[in-house]
Amino acid sequence: KSKEKSGTYHHFFRSEMSDRSLENIMLENALYKALENEELEIYYQPQIDSRNNQIMGAEALLRWNHPIKGMISPLDFIPIAEESGLIVPIGRWVLLNACKQLKIWHEQGHTDMTVSVNLSGRQFEEDDLLTMIESILSETGLAPDFLHIELTENQIFKNTHFTIDKMKELKMLGVKIALDDFGTGYSSLGYLKNFPIDTLKVDRSFMADITKDKDNAAITSTIIALAQNLGLDIIAEGVETEEQLVFLTAKDCFTIQGYYFSKPLKADALTEKYM
Ligand code: C2E
Ligand code: MG
Ligand code: MG
Ligand code: MG
Repeated sequence: KSKEKSGTYHHFFRSEMSDRSLENIMLENALYKALENEELEIYYQPQIDSRNNQIMGAEALLRWNHPIKGMISPLDFIPIAEESGLIVPIGRWVLLNACKQLKIWHEQGHTDMTVSVNLSGRQFEEDDLLTMIESILSETGLAPDFLHIELTENQIFKNTHFTIDKMKELKMLGVKIALDDFGTGYSSLGYLKNFPIDTLKVDRSFMADITKDKDNAAITSTIIALAQNLGLDIIAEGVETEEQLVFLTAKDCFTIQGYYFSKPLKADALTEKYM
């Protein structure tokens, strides 16, 4: 919901519409029906403790299986979902189903496992975000601290006053907050002190050539040290190779998410592989 006057908003919206490609408009229309047509699916990417190769949690990653186009990347349809507002019902669906799935894993005996869910800025700004999360937690019977909400820096630093209050309210519910793609946004390190953040996720772009690229090595080491010194948990994303794993382990960064261990999997495949 825009805070601007509605007249301004409509004008803005209309001029933006005319710039949009037919392709995008068709995708948006198809996305409207994707939920009820059961074309959306959640994949889960394991987060592994590299010291014992045990699964600690999984990140829920949305997939759209379009009847004609096949699998569409979230990088292509999440922006459309955000622009149209569809991300709100879709995001609620992801959250509900990820919590249901985690509850199943808990009931199967994997009682320490967590689930991470990406929240778009648009959802974060919704007035009923807290009620929505609260009702999903009570519907699924999931203890809140097993739910990790992933936000990006750019999302949360847009409006710091509003953000810090909302994050504190989320924390009061008992859920954990992770800062996703850390290092790529408008990071102001001072914010880390004031914002109730539990986890930093090092962006996967810094993993590239980490043993040869001195800049990436320095940035990754610094982010890890920062998290350690602030008492935050740290997750390395996009870990694909043994060399990257060795580098991270040497810095005492042990929670690893990446193709080296596993691509995102359907829940059943993850259960099969790790439990
Ligand atoms: P993200 O939250 O940073 O998720 C991590 C992305 O990195 C995922 O891409 C994952 O498949 C990919 N990845 C993980 N390990 C590796 C690796 O070793 N190598 C490479 N090359 N890639 C790796 P995916 O699933 O395509 O998702 C892309 C982005 O879409 C996500 O980035 C997130 O920002 C967004 N997204 C996905 N699902 C949702 C959702 O339910 N809600 C919202 N708001 N955004 C979502
Ligand atoms: Mg994420
Ligand atoms: Mg990320
Ligand atoms: Mg991302």
